[in-house]
Amino acid sequence: MNYIGTRGFKEPRNFAGALLDGLTPDGGLYVPESWPVPAFDLKEASAGGYGDLTESLLNLFGVNVLGEHAVKAAAAKTEAAFLRNGEVPLTKLEDNLWILELYHGPTLAFKDMAMQMMAPLTDAALAQRGEKLTLVTATSGDTGAAAVRAFAGSEHVKLIVFHPLGRVSPVQRLQMTTVEAENVLNVGVEGDFDDCQKIVKALLTEPSLKTAGLISSVNSINWGRLLGQVPYYLAAAAKSGADKPEFVVPTGNFGDAFAGWVGRKIGGNVGHLHAAVNRNDALNQAINTGRYVRRQAVETASVSMDVQAPSNFERLVFEASGRNAETTKAMFDTFGQTGAVTLSPELQNALKGEVSASTVSEETTKATIKLAYEKYGQVICPHTAVALAAALERKGDAPQIVLSTAHPAKFPAFVTEALGFEPKAPDAITDLYGLTETLTEAPADVAAAVTTVKSFIEWL
Ligand SMILES: *Cc1c(COP(=O)(O)O)cnc(C)c1O
Repeated sequence: MNYIGTRGFKEPRNFAGALLDGLTPDGGLYVPESWPVPAFDLKEASAGGYGDLTESLLNLFGVNVLGEHAVKAAAAKTEAAFLRNGEVPLTKLEDNLWILELYHGPTLAFKDMAMQMMAPLTDAALAQRGEKLTLVTATSGDTGAAAVRAFAGSEHVKLIVFHPLGRVSPVQRLQMTTVEAENVLNVGVEGDFDDCQKIVKALLTEPSLKTAGLISSVNSINWGRLLGQVPYYLAAAAKSGADKPEFVVPTGNFGDAFAGWVGRKIGGNVGHLHAAVNRNDALNQAINTGRYVRRQAVETASVSMDVQAPSNFERLVFEASGRNAETTKAMFDTFGQTGAVTLSPELQNALKGEVSASTVSEETTKATIKLAYEKYGQVICPHTAVALAAALERKGDAPQIVLSTAHPAKFPAFVTEALGFEPKAPDAITDLYGLTETLTEAPADVAAAVTTVKSFIEWL
């Protein structure tokens, strides 16, 4: 199994290459050369043990180039982050409506599943090559926390995390800044998430850093991240017992939703995919109006979805255009240069055939947190509320599974406003308060970021 790029990069890379590169050399995203067809019984595997399912899927996508040991270690880690008391964490709310709790990992958010898996795989890939790696990542909160927890103490990896200063929740910040690990640097950027993402994109192509060794990203542009999110779609669908359930996914960079798309593409029991976004709704606008426009991100309660240029949209465009790298490159080059692009009616229709999308307001998000408690007895986070609101708005006869992406106690202020009482915090959260924080503050400036990263790497 080899990987190619969405913008025409064709020198085949195996999984290890795609994992360590992050982006293709021409700035595109890695995708499998062709979509694999499982030789095993996918339905049966989906209903079996989660670790076994993950292992089968990793091997299907060529992760076995890293050796059986690495695959097993990765599968075990992601299984530990996924299960709730040893079970698939699916809860039935009412007929044809379930919620999948993806927050039983170390940072209480769904990004743990992919990140816990990425760490052993990355270490194995580096050990194989005898190399070290500088990982840079932009985070609106959860990615950074999950990455710090997963990579802290890694022998082969130095990790630098950029988050928008003051725009992540206190718990998210503490989960990053209280980890004492020499190989981790937290940078608070005076700007928004897209500023952080821009900095990371620039760092990845910065020549003076390349000479210092490998540099890559753990953002959801990384194929390895996506892969860690495919198995839970299949396991949840199997546990629901429904035929081709619709999945409603709270969406920021479209990584999670694209993982669902992959699950469907390889023949999994995944039905319609719906991306629910907050007021930062460039993706919804692109799909429903045909105009893809970059705007200043606004702050919402579902802060991990405050994304205006969803990176994985490029993978969807590549697929919806019939894997046309020329179309994809032209579109994202224009978007990169001008911040706006008009989709052809054909492309827009093709996109609509793959996924639907809708925007959920802050008021509806808040009202949905209240409703979830009063009607279903569930305390949910703002991201989950965005998805549940979209699901209830769409609700017909089709079975629906709503992805619940974070523990409500990670976002106590908004949840308390909605419910009138504070969500109960687990020990994993209360234990963070009072610990020493380590954080470097920096302007939203690429040159400054290069200097910061260089001095950190050299100091190590
Ligand atoms: C990252 C995140 C999302 C959005 O996931 P994408 O893969 O970026 O679409 C949703 N909810 C929470 C809690 C997150 O951390």
